[in-house]
Amino acid sequence: MRAVDIPARTYRHDMSAAAYFDNGSTTAVANEVIEEMLPFFTAVYGNPASIHSMGDAAAKAISVARKRTASAMGCRPSEIIFTSGGTESDNLAVMGAVIRSGKKKVITSAVEHSAVLEACGRLREMGYDITVIPVDGEGYVDTDGISNAADGDTALVSVMAANNVIGTIQPIAELAKIAHENGALFHTDAVQAFTKTDIDVKRDGIDMMSVSGHKIHGPKGTGALYVRSGVELTPMILGGGQEHGLRSSTENVPGIAGIGKAAELVMLTMDDDVKRMAKMRDKIINEILSIKGSYLNGPVRNRLCSNAHFGFSGVKGNDIVLALSKMGVYASAASACSAGSTEPSHVMTAIGRSAQEALSSLRISLSRYTTEDEVNILLDALPKALRSVRK
Ligand code: PLP
Repeated sequence: MRAVDIPARTYRHDMSAAAYFDNGSTTAVANEVIEEMLPFFTAVYGNPASIHSMGDAAAKAISVARKRTASAMGCRPSEIIFTSGGTESDNLAVMGAVIRSGKKKVITSAVEHSAVLEACGRLREMGYDITVIPVDGEGYVDTDGISNAADGDTALVSVMAANNVIGTIQPIAELAKIAHENGALFHTDAVQAFTKTDIDVKRDGIDMMSVSGHKIHGPKGTGALYVRSGVELTPMILGGGQEHGLRSSTENVPGIAGIGKAAELVMLTMDDDVKRMAKMRDKIINEILSIKGSYLNGPVRNRLCSNAHFGFSGVKGNDIVLALSKMGVYASAASACSAGSTEPSHVMTAIGRSAQEALSSLRISLSRYTTEDEVNILLDALPKALRSVRK
């Protein structure tokens, strides 16, 4: 074994005084996950395809991680494809299923993550017929609209399980039923919902489900796609045939070990964590709504336990984020992929907010590690941040 000296933590941020409310963008990696990953950078660095013992040990680690991830997702290990993240899982599900199907139509919603919307955009360029269904003022997709748009030529209905910006939890079992009545497959992007809502791929009739490691206290650059046995996909990454031929490239063994451990760990205490997060979220919503000029975006009921999203009239969301950051409180104005953007979020305009309202947003997102102390720090800091920005 080669000893690896972990370099001085040059980039380590001193989080001691901070309150972290940007978990929708990414979460802290759990210590248990780091411990699980380390040997695969050091002692067990073999290629899982190699037939010697070190390769075999790496292959075994992948097999353990596949079992853990499958158990958390409620499916068989053979139905899990490890990917490089939620984006790749979404791309593979949408493009892989539609190209393979021989059918011409795809239905999705106006509030999907860009990983789904851009994949649909690429399919449109290739000649497929893409229908984007609107949502109501709370972000719920128009189920009748999906029913009316679907027919025998529909390859896929793709609607996210919970929205990354405003936290709306969609009725995915009902949507899967509509897809199946029309002979279409149903895919859900559960990157935000996985381990925070009650999803059961078998009970809910889901054919494909995307998840991401770094939203559940696993490492960045890791993801998984559940593909129901019998669903056929055209692979997007071609090569050596890893991951049942659906995702070539030498496996990211430490990352896969990490996402597997994270999925197992978070599921152990999910029920309690969800209740605790929901309680803190409600406290945050109640207190922040008492601030003059504030309003809530997204639903009151059936909202992701980890999401609170506000507008503040006459203030720019990015300015609030920067003012909070000076006090060691981390949040975001939009979702991670559009953080820092000066364009209004497509989710906000889809729920009927004006461009100006969309740019006045603040997303507060919690995790299982969020504490009451952090909530109090946030509630103390936010009025100060607003005052300094309004000046
Ligand atoms: N889908 C949703 C709903 C997300 O929130 C994100 C990330 O923010 C993604 C997909 C992309 O996941 P990843 O960063 O793992 O590629």
